[in-house]
Amino acid sequence: MATIDAHVHLYPPEVLADPAAWAAACGEAHWTRLCTRRRKSGAPVQLFPCLDELLRDLDAAGLERAVLLGWYWEKPATCAVQNRFYEQCVRAHPDRLAACAAVHPADLDEIRRTHEAGFVGVGELSPHSQGIPVDDPRVIELLHLAGELGLPVNVHVSDPTSHRFDGWVDTPLADFTRWAELFPLTQFVLAHWGGGLAFDPASRALANVWFDTAASPLLYDATAWTRALAAVGAERILFGSDYPLRLFPQAEQASGLGEFVRQARAEMPETARAAVLGANAAEVFARR
Ligand SMILES: [Zn+2]
Repeated sequence: MATIDAHVHLYPPEVLADPAAWAAACGEAHWTRLCTRRRKSGAPVQLFPCLDELLRDLDAAGLERAVLLGWYWEKPATCAVQNRFYEQCVRAHPDRLAACAAVHPADLDEIRRTHEAGFVGVGELSPHSQGIPVDDPRVIELLHLAGELGLPVNVHVSDPTSHRFDGWVDTPLADFTRWAELFPLTQFVLAHWGGGLAFDPASRALANVWFDTAASPLLYDATAWTRALAAVGAERILFGSDYPLRLFPQAEQASGLGEFVRQARAEMPETARAAVLGANAAEVFARR
């Protein structure tokens, strides 16, 4: 079974030279605040690798495949730009890459377009970050449509007890458990350990919910692995990094992807590794 990173972000070449200028031209101020931030040390929170660098970093970390996730852009037009780029990436490397669509609730046709183009899911989605109420009729339709088309939805969730940083957006956890109950035919992957829902045994009852581990080293200590395995079980957890976020900023100049894979393997019993490091993602993102 292939090893899979189920939470990777990548940007078109025109972004890489000057991300902030590109985002300003697109009207994407929130993305700029989050992704071009610097730490107190002056070091950037994330890198801007090209496609070939991603493939090399996956190789070095011992990962065979990645699921590219779209950003929760403020403008529908930016979603379309990233999705067209992801189409090219997947077409060039179908053996290594699959993609979820960037979607803005104001343009649901983009879900149909990307579904036809072979995308395997929707996300990373964050109506909270886009300033759209979670019960907005467009959001309701989006989640219905994703379920109807068999497209799992990756959702950005932040832990209400976590430290705040520039660009922080509150995402009340009850919003996501309510979605899971309202849309039983839609599969949800709640990012970043579901903001802590993955550590709550009550979450096991949500049959259509999985959790990814994106950015874990920046958010929790390594006990997150055993806590989540005990609470929801290995079958609900998808390894995901949040690449190209720098996961170990004190220790590494690079993304830290390899170190994160080592942490995952070290913190999980042998019986959980294959499921979490690939089999679950392969099942969730299998096209139906
Ligand atoms: Zn996220």
